[in-house]
Amino acid sequence: MAHKKIPMKPDKKIALVAHDNKKRDLLEWAKFNRDLLAHHQIYATGTTGKLLEEELGLKIAKLKSGPLGGDQQIGAKIVDNEIDFLIFFWDPLQPQPHDPDVKALLRMAVVWNIPIANNRASADFMISSPLMDGEYDRLVPDYENYSERKIVSREMG
Ligand code: PGA
Repeated sequence: MAHKKIPMKPDKKIALVAHDNKKRDLLEWAKFNRDLLAHHQIYATGTTGKLLEEELGLKIAKLKSGPLGGDQQIGAKIVDNEIDFLIFFWDPLQPQPHDPDVKALLRMAVVWNIPIANNRASADFMISSPLMDGEYDRLVPDYENYSERKIVSREMG
């Protein structure tokens, strides 16, 4: 499959999300990496964003709370190329009322080849990568053929 290049600027649009049992982890991580995060544009689901703003003193674009549609808003922004990085500490030990939204968000991140960190160690490796502060061409499959695929929409007869 052919690919398209989507340029990512040195200042990235990063989405941060954490389920309730993982919020402390994300806050500690973000505080430790505050200086590295400071020049990026940060988005977050409602509650995560509120806590991060208090902790970091950085301006954060807050969306709706995850279970109220915030995860889907982030997914939509990924599709529209308004988010190019996802740090999502999801809770593997607790059922979530918005589990389908969580799955949909992770799926969109894979469809659009967005870097995703789902735990602290991955986030550490990603934030310290030399790619983080430079330009980067993200390769996304060219979905043109998919959009143009033939659909039999009428019964022959
Ligand atoms: P919250 O949402 O930041 O509003 O708690 C997170 C989530 O559960 O997706």
